[in-house]
Amino acid sequence: MKRSLKKEIKVDRIFPYFLLLKPLWLPFSGALICGIIYGVSSGFGLPFMMEQIFPKIFPSDSIDDTQKLETLDLVLYVGWFPLVFLIRGVSGYFNTYLINFCGVKVLEKIRVQVFTKLQRLPLSFFHKNQEGDLLSRVSNDTGQLQNAVLSISNDLVRQPITFVGAVAALVLIALQNEGMSFVLLCLLVVPICIFPIRKIGQILLVKALGMQETAGGMTAILSENLSASREVRAFNLEDREIQRFRDSSREYLWARMKVIKYSHLLTPIIEIITALGISVAIFQASKTGIKLEAFIPVIMALYMSYEPIKKLGSIQNQLKQALASIQRIDDILDAEESVVDPVNPISKELVGEIQFQNVSFSYDESDKASPALHSINLAIEPGEVVALVGPSGAGKTTLAGLLPRFFDPVEGKILIDGIDITHLNLRNLRESIALVPQKPFLFDLSVEGNIKLGKSQYTGNSLLDSVEKANAAEFVYELPNKLKERLGENGNRLSGGQIQRLAMARAFYKNSPILILDEATSALDSENENIIHESMAQLIKGKTTILIAHRFSSIRLATRIIVMDGGKIIANGKHKEIYESCELYKTLYDRQA
Ligand code: ADP
Ligand code: MG
Repeated sequence: MKRSLKKEIKVDRIFPYFLLLKPLWLPFSGALICGIIYGVSSGFGLPFMMEQIFPKIFPSDSIDDTQKLETLDLVLYVGWFPLVFLIRGVSGYFNTYLINFCGVKVLEKIRVQVFTKLQRLPLSFFHKNQEGDLLSRVSNDTGQLQNAVLSISNDLVRQPITFVGAVAALVLIALQNEGMSFVLLCLLVVPICIFPIRKIGQILLVKALGMQETAGGMTAILSENLSASREVRAFNLEDREIQRFRDSSREYLWARMKVIKYSHLLTPIIEIITALGISVAIFQASKTGIKLEAFIPVIMALYMSYEPIKKLGSIQNQLKQALASIQRIDDILDAEESVVDPVNPISKELVGEIQFQNVSFSYDESDKASPALHSINLAIEPGEVVALVGPSGAGKTTLAGLLPRFFDPVEGKILIDGIDITHLNLRNLRESIALVPQKPFLFDLSVEGNIKLGKSQYTGNSLLDSVEKANAAEFVYELPNKLKERLGENGNRLSGGQIQRLAMARAFYKNSPILILDEATSALDSENENIIHESMAQLIKGKTTILIAHRFSSIRLATRIIVMDGGKIIANGKHKEIYESCELYKTLYDRQA
């Protein structure tokens, strides 16, 4: 999902994310108020206080003993320092705390939003994007964005107020003390800072996008490696994997260093420019013979007015990094939900009469030349059991996947009970189809939990019945906690045959009128295969069944056989007829006989 950088992302893309702060208005306004107090006490409070009390502590005329302050007065004056810093510290602390609270909440919302969207996307989206990269977008990029929304919304109030406060203090000092108006000239360096801020921001956007992309690549390698831990060992791929990870980790490191290089360049540049301003002030002060104690508050105010510029520069940096992440998050949020519920969805119990009318499908929209399915016409009666056979890659799984609308045909349409499936309520449609895939997935739940995931409006069999009929009872009752036994990630504590039987139990429990068995026995040994066949024979009773068969032993269950090759149906009929008429079928059959 790399995209060209030429399409510059607009700053306003970040606004919707600020709107997420809306329900958090209470803590957020608390944070803002604390930020304002912080800004005023820093920008205005500190220099103003100095300007007021320094002359009292260090009276400028020649000091005689009578003019010396009483200790108590001195303590009172000096006490202003910790007091101002106390106000500044406490408000600064609560400002940061509350802002972070809002940030964590915002992050949660963004993540859930992205996750929710991922649930709605068609399968094709996951074919196109690497799992690890998506993982990185959900965890990394949302984190980046959160940081930015936070510090931007925080500093956007705090820093301008500090700036305005400091300028006010400068104006006040300039008005009150003759010969001090030159300090206002020192503010002229502020506009000069705009140039580096802009330039570096532009560079950063590009670098940040590069960094997030390499982070995605690294997570992709990690997640692939973790899911293939067995293969890595079996094929001695450890060194290759380490090398791969090391390369991508190094690539990430350099991409990150580029971001660091530019994001930290801004502060020194601005400091150098502002130091120029301060040195002008010192030069003038010395020329006009201003006393040190009168001058210190000026330096303080100048410092306080330059500081926000530096901070606003780093906001700009953050903003650019956030935009890079937004771009990656929006790739998900803006992805087309091509498989969606119709406007007026039809919900009804289905019987299971299926028709494919001139259906073509291609995984790659841009490559229509070699479609996975080509003009499929097929009608299946309710309760009929058809076997789909053909060499691997013929398009059997693809054909079956069109029924529950994992993806929609590019051309033609599919009807169930005479209704175009795109007019059916999606949930309803998917409840009417029980799918037992070649490699079923079990969630990290109990046996019972995993089977009950199959609950549908058609569910009629009890849990125990389903386990029994799927021939799973025997091994389930040997588990320490029986039906309550937790299965671990992807049921990795069970054998292939056991997983397959639980998948069958799920289908029994679901009891949908349409059943798809996709090579449900191909990975099993013959003993397991026989057991599964036995359950299959039970399961298909009264159901419209598409039986994708790898081994011909299961074909016996079918009343009709459809032969596919290269995305087309090349034969359709009873075993005897097509054995004689279809060369491919004869070859496949004889090979197994
Ligand atoms: P079968 O189940 O008959 O073995 P499939 O339906 O899985 O065949 O595949 C049909 C064709 O579609 C094959 O050429 C395969 O390479 C291609 N194909 C399958 N899945 C995908 C996918 N996710 N992305 C792109 N092409 C795919
Ligand atoms: Mg297949």
